[in-house]
Parts: sequence; C-alpha cells; structure tokens
Amino acid sequence: MPHAKAYAAQSGTSPLAAHTINRREPTADDVQIEILFCGVCHSDIHQARNEWQSVMPTVYPCVPGHEIVGRVTAVGSSVKRFKKGDTVGVGCLVDSEGSCPACKANLEQFCPGATFTYNAPDKHLGGVTYGGYSDSIVVNERFVLSVPSNLDLAGAAPLLCAGITTYSPLKHWGVGPGKKVGIVGLGGLGHMGVKFARALGAQVVVFTTSANKVDDALRLGAHEVVISKDAEAMKKHAFSFDFILDCVSAPHDINAYLAMLTVNGNLTLVGAPEQPFPIAGFGLLFGRKSLSGSLIGGLKETQEMLDFCGKHNITSDVEVIGIQQINEAYERVLKADVKYRFSIDMASLKG
Ligand code: NAP
Ligand code: ZN
Repeated sequence: MPHAKAYAAQSGTSPLAAHTINRREPTADDVQIEILFCGVCHSDIHQARNEWQSVMPTVYPCVPGHEIVGRVTAVGSSVKRFKKGDTVGVGCLVDSEGSCPACKANLEQFCPGATFTYNAPDKHLGGVTYGGYSDSIVVNERFVLSVPSNLDLAGAAPLLCAGITTYSPLKHWGVGPGKKVGIVGLGGLGHMGVKFARALGAQVVVFTTSANKVDDALRLGAHEVVISKDAEAMKKHAFSFDFILDCVSAPHDINAYLAMLTVNGNLTLVGAPEQPFPIAGFGLLFGRKSLSGSLIGGLKETQEMLDFCGKHNITSDVEVIGIQQINEAYERVLKADVKYRFSIDMASLKG
C-alpha cells in the first residue's frame, strides 16, 4: 500500500501536524496525482475544528484540502482522458453513484452517495477519505479535471472550490449584462465571485466589513464598495439588486441584504456558518423575493468554469505558504486577514 505524507488534525482543538496516510494503488479507472498546490478553504477550518458537528461530524485524524492541483503520475488501464504528466485538478468530490437522477443531471454534488474529498466514508480503504494537504492522491477519472495550461498553478488551485462555488450560482441565477449583483464578504469565495460577476458583464457591488479591502475590491472588478457597518451607505441600495451572493463564514444579519433585493430578486447563501439564521418573513413577501443556497457545482460545470478561467485568464489572488505555516494561516483566515486565498506549495512537504 503506497504511503503519502500529509498534515492532519488529530482532534477539534489540536493544531495540524505531520502525519502519514495510506493511498490506494490506482485501479483501472483511477488517476494517481502528485499534488503541487492545495488551496486553504474556510470549510477546511470548519471541518478540522468540528464546527459542522450537527451536519457532518469530523472523524479524526482529519486531512483537509479540496482545492487540489497536481500532475498525473500514473493512470489505470481504462483511463482515457488523462495521461502521465498532465496538469489536473481535483475539487470537493472524488466519487458518486453515477446513475442517480442528480448524477444524470450533472449535479454530482447532490448525489446521495457522493463521496467528498475528505471526511467521507472511503469505499476503497475503509475509514474516511483524506484531502489535499498531502503529497499525492488517487481519484476516479470522472472526478479529475483538466487545468488550462495558461493558468498559474498556485492561483488555479482555489478555483476547484472557491471558483466553482461562486461561478455556479452566478450562472444559475442568470447573472450577466444589465443585472445588479451584490457580493457579501470579500474572502476566498467572495473575491472569486467579484471576478466572475464582472467577467459575466454585471454591475458589481461588494459589501465588506473591512475598510482596508476597498481598493482591492475595486481592483478585483467591483464598480462600487459598501462598508456594511455604514447604515446610511447600506440604505442607498435598498430594493435595487437582482442577485446577491452571500459568502460570509460567520453569523450576520441577512435581513439587511434581503431588504436590498428588487422585485423577484434572489439572495443565495454559499457561506456556511453552522448556526441557523433568523429570517424576517415579511422581508421576502414584499417583492416576491427568494432566499436559496448553493453547494459547489457538478463536474461538467466545474470543467466549464476552468475553461472560462483559461479563456479570461482568471485565477485566485493567492499568498503561497509552506504546509508548516498552516496553523498560522488558519488564524489569519479567521481574522479575515488573507488576500485572498492561501495556497499551499506541497513541495514544502518533502523536507
Ligand atoms: P473566508 O476567506 O474566511 O471569507 C469569509 C469572509 O466573510 C471574510 O473575509 C469577511 O469578509 C467576511 N466575514 C467574516 N466574518 C464575518 C462576520 N462576523 N460578519 C460579517 N462578515 C464576516 O472564507 P471562504 O473560504 O471564502 O468561505 C466562506 C464560507 O463559505 C465558509 O463558511 C465556507 O465554509 C463556505 N463554503 C461554502 C461552500 C459551498 O459549496 N456552499 C464552498 C466553500 C466554502 P470582509 O472582510 O469582506 O467582511
Ligand atoms: Zn471549499
């Protein structure tokens, strides 16, 4: 059984530390990948610290990481789409049933048998799956994506989660020219939301709690930035948005954003704080507004997003770190002090 070097949390309160895991020998349908970069998603922190206990409790040791870019080192005998040496990506999913209605609709993320990249039952080895904070991974071909050759690899890694998670709802809700779009929270997801909404041709307004992000928001593509603590500035946008994407990782007042939607407007939540939100029903009634959620995206749409990024030369703005800095990086993400995604250079695991 091949071993892999990794970083793991041993409990919800222990820092991540070096750990050795097993990876399977590639089966006929598998692609074996040397991981080059892995983005640091806020979901990694929620999960490593067991903050989603009520929905998906964490099994330890936990090796997070679902924004993976790497190079193919071997392929199984039935693999057709990839060969040794290809640059590939793996996101939040590594398997699904393939035959259920969700899979048939290219929505593998909603398959009842979907296997997430980490902390999900591992059909091959038993125990749970281990993610991308590791030097290698073995994944069924269906869940491997092609990374356009013009993209910087450190900046491409976050596309595999932050990218698809924002691209998918923007496309689903018809964001494009003539639409006014709000992006709430300028973190890893939010900054990708700004780039995509702008590239799709919308009028983009960023809502941030961080005054020191205003210049960046404009540089990333926003037409306007509102400091969400400024009640007067917030009021100016009442009843004006077609669509708002909420990318905030912590509890906050979403009624303030529902008030900004126009008739038939939609607010989609992608941020995933564990606590429930209090919703003022009347805020939805007046204007036939809707509130919905969205979870990553299916494989076909993820490839479409990567190709869109290749065409428009879109990557994440990253701060590259060694795996040894991961615990400090988590603390900085929690303080909204990353511009705008950490990307781990996995060569640092070799030492
Ligand atoms: P992140 O980089 O930490 O960004 C979150 C941003 O939210 C912060 O940068 C900050 O932006 C804002 N924020 C933080 N605390 C806040 C508070 N108390 N009140 C108001 N705003 C606050 O996190 P991320 O990686 O983008 O992930 C965001 C959320 O999406 C997480 O909960 C994550 O688990 C979830 N997620 C969901 C999916 C999905 O499929 N639905 C996929 C990936 C991640 P400002 O400084 O601009 O205010
Ligand atoms: Zn993620």
